[in-house]
Amino acid sequence: MIAGPCSAESLEQVLATADAVAGALSSAGSVQFTELDWFRAGLWKPRTRPGSFEGVGSAGLEWLAEVKLRYGWKVCCEVATPSHVEACLKAGIDMVWIGARTAANPFQVQELAESLRGADVPVYVKNPVSHDLNLWCGAVERLSKCAVTQIGAIHRGVSSNSSLEYRNDPAWDLAIAFHSRCPELPLLCDPSHIAGKAESVPELSQRAINIGFDGLMVEVHNDPSKALSDASQQLSPEGFSRLLGDLVIRDGVSSDVEFTRQIEQLRARIDDIDGNLLSLLGQRMSVSEEIGRLKKESNVAILQSGRWEEVLSRAVALGRRNGLSEDFVRSIFSLIHEESIHRQ
Ligand code: PEP
Ligand code: MN
Repeated sequence: MIAGPCSAESLEQVLATADAVAGALSSAGSVQFTELDWFRAGLWKPRTRPGSFEGVGSAGLEWLAEVKLRYGWKVCCEVATPSHVEACLKAGIDMVWIGARTAANPFQVQELAESLRGADVPVYVKNPVSHDLNLWCGAVERLSKCAVTQIGAIHRGVSSNSSLEYRNDPAWDLAIAFHSRCPELPLLCDPSHIAGKAESVPELSQRAINIGFDGLMVEVHNDPSKALSDASQQLSPEGFSRLLGDLVIRDGVSSDVEFTRQIEQLRARIDDIDGNLLSLLGQRMSVSEEIGRLKKESNVAILQSGRWEEVLSRAVALGRRNGLSEDFVRSIFSLIHEESIHRQ
């Protein structure tokens, strides 16, 4: 668990937030979390537009040092330039992370990686703002090529234009793909930046735990309504306390014999069904090729939109009868259609 304000604003605010976090940790409700792994606070804030609060800069390093002294926690903050890295290492910051906007820029990541060479602190990499697995993994590779050995990742969702329930699209698929590519790296979830509003942080946190993330980075502020950045998404002391009390932690694996027997049976069924799905898809594509040959012999164009509309509406209706959402059926069929046209 990483918790703390979006930004360090003053010594008083940082200490009041730390005090609230300590209170939540020791409250009777939170049996699962008795300590914090890191206390967070952003010092240099990468704001989307100029003119917003851009952070207190290196002045906040002493405030984090004070938190460390008073509460015995490790502390962390975001770094975006080699001079931030240098200042953090000098001030005894225990972990640094590369933010989403910085992670999207290979030049900047390369410079950071070089400035972190030989540093004895963990470095976490947030996923870049766009849905781009290679860019995220590329940032991790740049660090490991510079002999940074303690690397982790933080999933914070991706920017999206479509009107969404949350500030960011949760894009769980991206995090799952990252985990498959780098299974050995700790992967945390930042529900605060996905949510954009405090009330959605608990549901996203539980979702992340259910999926199997290794931990959470949560924004907490002693008085969110007065926060100088991300006011709407920071948890109040009470909100954080409730979150700790309510979260249900899942085990990564289970040694229970009955659970193992049942899951193995279900997985065997899934594997069997996947085999059938792929065999049917293969057969469908062979028929597409035959249609393609026929159209060519008869000098007919491949794309007939009327037919495609017909296929799609039939599929959506059939899907509905089988308990499949329209969105899901449309996504699958647009991929099938694309491949089918390619074959033809
Ligand atoms: C932050 O953690 O305060 C932050 C700016 O996050 P992100 O880089 O994910 O937008
Ligand atoms: Mn923030």
